[in-house]
Amino acid sequence: MAKRRLTRQQSWRIRKIQQERLERARRKQDQMLDGIDEQKLGAEQSGLVIANYGASLDIEAAAGDIHRCSLRQNIEPLVVGDRVIWQAAGDDSGVVTALIPRHTLLARPDRFANMRPLAANIDQILIVAAPRPMYNTDLIDQYLVAAEVTGVQPVLLLNKIDLLDTTERKRIDEELVLYRTLGYPVIHASTLARHGMDELTAALSGKISVFAGQSGVGKSSLIKALLPESEIVIGDLSERTGLGQHTTSASRLYHLPNGGSLIDSPGVREFRLWKLDEQELAQGFVEFRPLLGHCRFRDCRHNNEPGCAILAAVEDGAISRQRLESFYRIRDGLETDSQQY
Ligand code: GDP
Ligand code: ZN
Repeated sequence: MAKRRLTRQQSWRIRKIQQERLERARRKQDQMLDGIDEQKLGAEQSGLVIANYGASLDIEAAAGDIHRCSLRQNIEPLVVGDRVIWQAAGDDSGVVTALIPRHTLLARPDRFANMRPLAANIDQILIVAAPRPMYNTDLIDQYLVAAEVTGVQPVLLLNKIDLLDTTERKRIDEELVLYRTLGYPVIHASTLARHGMDELTAALSGKISVFAGQSGVGKSSLIKALLPESEIVIGDLSERTGLGQHTTSASRLYHLPNGGSLIDSPGVREFRLWKLDEQELAQGFVEFRPLLGHCRFRDCRHNNEPGCAILAAVEDGAISRQRLESFYRIRDGLETDSQQY
């Protein structure tokens, strides 16, 4: 999608508006903290951020009870999936006092190219692809790189297999074998025909996952199929309770009936490959990784340099030519596409 270039004045105004919003949120936070009796705070305990309303958060305690919490000023912005230390201030409210270090963080750039956190402590990204809109392997590779450089396990999920006839199915099966060879799990599913849902449920069990992929591949349909009605209702209800707030959480963590959790938000669904440099891109191709640093020239670009370890592996058949060419195309795209944000 083509983006307009902003004039300096427009950028300045946007920054100003954002600053004002931030200050308003801080003031609201202060007011909420003012209403809390410090003497009556409960003991410090750990919790999980399951919804984020900006000035306040829903924290799930170890026992599963949910508390609408405000934040101490010195804490960096929190996201759903964060593990925190908090103290109860009443039956259903509290104060977050510290952030427990994250083991992964999904982020996306804002319009000023600053990375903004989207969700924390994700274990796996389900990259959803479909025959309509038809995926292409370059796009799959881009998602895989994005997951790899974020340090999150990718799982390929081919949805809408009900749309495939035998010939198409065979061609796609053959095409996706490459990814199985690389060690990536590949799940075939149909939300419509409820096919592959058991395999998907098993893959999600015990982990915190997100769904990413092009618009129209069936992410909302999959999430709806996985969540029991009650989870969605609870999500809606908690927006109306708490400290009398009527704000909606753009991002939410859902527990799955068979174990595991999903974090979903419009931002998370749009997770994809942002700008990164050539070295990072190469690191995102898992099969290149052990060979990087083994080319004759330190600044080898793996084009046609003598003594290139990657090209030698392609000659040997250890690396597929398709992936090397995909690497070149993604690299060219990163070089020419200066309007990534
Ligand atoms: P999202 O944009 O990725 O969230 O995709 P949606 O969940 O909104 O689905 C896009 C369209 O694909 C909708 O019309 C769905 O009904 C349809 N769809 C979703 N899953 C399947 C499936 O397994 N088979 C078929 N044939 N259509 C599906
Ligand atoms: Zn090389």
